[in-house]
Amino acid sequence: METRWLYLSGEELTQMREISHDTCVIPMGCIEKHGTHLPLGTDILKGSEVTYRASQIEPVCVFADFTFGSVPSFPPYRAVGTIHLPLEFQMQMLELLCEEIASHGFRKILVVNSHGGNTMWLNVFASSIIPQKKRNFVFAHTKAPKTAPHLLAQMILEQGSGVHPELTKEDEETLIRLYEMDMKTGHACFFETAYMMGFAPETVHLEKIVPGSGQNLHVSDYFKENEIFVKGGGWGFNYPRAYAGDDPFDCNERIGQAALRVGAEVLAKRIKLFKEDENLYTWTMNGQNGIRNDYVK
Ligand SMILES: [Zn+2]
Repeated sequence: METRWLYLSGEELTQMREISHDTCVIPMGCIEKHGTHLPLGTDILKGSEVTYRASQIEPVCVFADFTFGSVPSFPPYRAVGTIHLPLEFQMQMLELLCEEIASHGFRKILVVNSHGGNTMWLNVFASSIIPQKKRNFVFAHTKAPKTAPHLLAQMILEQGSGVHPELTKEDEETLIRLYEMDMKTGHACFFETAYMMGFAPETVHLEKIVPGSGQNLHVSDYFKENEIFVKGGGWGFNYPRAYAGDDPFDCNERIGQAALRVGAEVLAKRIKLFKEDENLYTWTMNGQNGIRNDYVK
């Protein structure tokens, strides 16, 4: 079923809105360096793909990608190809987009966030958007589910070999080994590499990874030890390659396909919950009308 706003006619969009219980999801990412082996668009590309796949499991209207996101504008964070836009501008753009989407009858808007750097401002946005003025929609956000290698391995251990039809026996053993060694899977590491390999393997260049270069350099730890907060906890200083974790050399396309399928399944469950929920909308609208606490029995 076609679920994407941009691919629907006006009449089809109206039908999609009914199927979606007035819910619209927006994939969100950013454009930034992802190590030396993944594309600049990794976050929005993978967020868009997993959201679309989830909408094929739990039908929901998918709005156009919110391609940009919060990326610091100064070195060492800002690498070649990174696109920085002022946060105030992005918050205003998201607000205006939500109002436009809501004007077509979508009362519930859910952002699927695929970039960790957006979480903080989305929380601020979510807590500020409703109280400022009366609105006819509610807003929430969720992260693109992280599946490989740990969740995939846990599922094999709990549900048995064969739970992921995409995988060979060797793949299963690899995932369990990585899980048992508690593999670090930060920025541009196994999880993101797997997603990209699952649908755009030609964009992944494992041979360009400098082995071991995703380890924490700890150069800014003295701030943390003294409880001084610096931007992003000093992440960009500790991981100057925008690559954080253990090397994902064991990743392959089969694991990527399983990672994406499970990610879409997890996300579809969250979308279903949000779609079917009316409490958030009722509470919010009652709050706007000044009728507080009427849902407290
Ligand atoms: Zn990323």
